Amino acid sequence: MLDFIIVGQGIAGSMLSWFLMKENQTLLLIDELNTSSATHVASGITNPITGRKFVKTWLADELIPFSQATFQQFEELFSEQLLYPLSIIKLFDSVKAQNDWSLRCASPEYLPYLKNEEIIYLDTQKVKNDFGGFEINGGSKLEASKFLTLYRNLLKQKEVLLEEKFNFEELQVSETSIVYKGKSAKRIIFCEGANAIQNPYFKFLPFQLAKGECLILKIEDFYADRVINGEVFIMPTGNKDEYYIGSTHEWNFDDAQPSEKGKNELLGNLSTVLKSPYQIVDHKAAIRPTVKDRRPFIGFNPQYKNVGIFNGMGTKGISLAPYFANHFTQHLVHSAPIMSEVDIQRVLKQG
Ligand SMILES: Cc1cc2nc3c(=O)[nH]c(=O)nc-3n(C[C@H](O)[C@H](O)[C@H](O)COP(=O)(O)OP(=O)(O)OC[C@H]3O[C@@H](n4cnc5c(N)ncnc54)[C@H](O)[C@@H]3O)c2cc1C
Repeated sequence: MLDFIIVGQGIAGSMLSWFLMKENQTLLLIDELNTSSATHVASGITNPITGRKFVKTWLADELIPFSQATFQQFEELFSEQLLYPLSIIKLFDSVKAQNDWSLRCASPEYLPYLKNEEIIYLDTQKVKNDFGGFEINGGSKLEASKFLTLYRNLLKQKEVLLEEKFNFEELQVSETSIVYKGKSAKRIIFCEGANAIQNPYFKFLPFQLAKGECLILKIEDFYADRVINGEVFIMPTGNKDEYYIGSTHEWNFDDAQPSEKGKNELLGNLSTVLKSPYQIVDHKAAIRPTVKDRRPFIGFNPQYKNVGIFNGMGTKGISLAPYFANHFTQHLVHSAPIMSEVDIQRVLKQG
């Protein structure tokens, strides 16, 4: 009997299977290949300072170093570069924003991420930046799609990947085990991303999915060494003159396809930042598994104690998934407690 069956090989299922295998757990990962999944479409940015008030992201000091160290291990394993340090230039939209930043810089907990130096002004022929901007330290970009492909190959080599759509009608759950198409395991953990809303075992979880769209542009003679963060991100992809423009957050949508509405929103926001001419070369969309309280969902069905979930990575899968996959693994293998903020018990307690 296997220790685990895991469903879904996005960043969540990849990370969970990795940490479980490091603890010598046996498993089978079931994934239907979907190169339009959230992880494949993500820009892969980890940004420690976000929002109009320049706030440090939740658990930044723990999550970011852990995520970066994890992907550095994969770089060694695959002999491929996956992670790139990022210089993120956040643009000010007012004098008030400049002052808010100055105040933040005075706070010791912001020291690793903010340098209180001169305000940075970019070339006004290329970028609208009347109030300039500041540099955020400690950010990075993961080539998330490349990582998924390399990790999938590893799973194939280990003969632990079943490439197909998971069918709930074929799942039998008993007190002590689960059986799926003749394969038995002690537990099953679902890491299906946005598809979780169709999972009959976790219908009670308050997901609030957000569709995200992005554009890939060609911009000649632009900033290839930094990300410019105004109303949109303008991020170099690594290919010559190519930039990722992201992203939208749409809560009402009919499908996961790129839309005219999403494209127009991106181009409208882009026009508040970019002055250089550009050409659109691609347009992508995916659905993020976002949660009302913006915290992951980790735990087991209250009735079926061997049916679990690892999901709800929302807008920050690249930094959340490694840390919490390890956290969940410590619970699964060594009975360490699950942090209350991410435990699905929080939903059950609210009734
Ligand atoms: C436009 C955009 C930009 C983003 N940018 C960033 C960013 O810069 N930084 C960041 O940290 N995050 C970003 N995100 C968010 C990030 O993509 C998500 O947090 C993360 O990818 C979620 O990972 P996941 O593994 O939970 O889901 P997914 O990546 O969607 O993976 C789920 C997997 O499960 C499989 N699956 C589902 N159901 C079944 C089934 N029944 N049978 C078999 N397989 C199944 C799917 O095929 C898929 O492979 C972005 C998202 C979008 C849409």
